[in-house]
Amino acid sequence: MLGFKGNSNAREKVNYYSYMNSNEWKNKSRKFRRKTGDRCQIFPWLKAESSHHTNYNNLGSEQWNVDCIVISHSAHKLIHGWLAGFRRDVGVSKQNENPKNKYPNSLQKTIHWYARIVGVVLYLIKFI
Ligand SMILES: [Zn+2]
Repeated sequence: MLGFKGNSNAREKVNYYSYMNSNEWKNKSRKFRRKTGDRCQIFPWLKAESSHHTNYNNLGSEQWNVDCIVISHSAHKLIHGWLAGFRRDVGVSKQNENPKNKYPNSLQKTIHWYARIVGVVLYLIKFI
């Protein structure tokens, strides 16, 4: 079952990992990357390599630029490393171990908003 809301951790994990490996997610992620012409929404001179969840509220029914942005490997490392308060990139569950630093923290929220603006520009650029 996807797109559930709840806080059973074990359940969330199973669903999250199976969803991340599903064709449904892979196709959606590809579709999202096309929105920006495969450009990274944080470093637009780099290629978008993956879709990044800005929140996990709508797992299974994500919308581009609301729940997900498309970014390069470097941008992904920045968000889950430095901006998460770690020298190396860490998983969201590791970040959430500190209740005062829950994902997305204020730095991550800020960069997500910046990325959404860049995303709109990249999207519009395709039509000129
Ligand atoms: Zn991510």
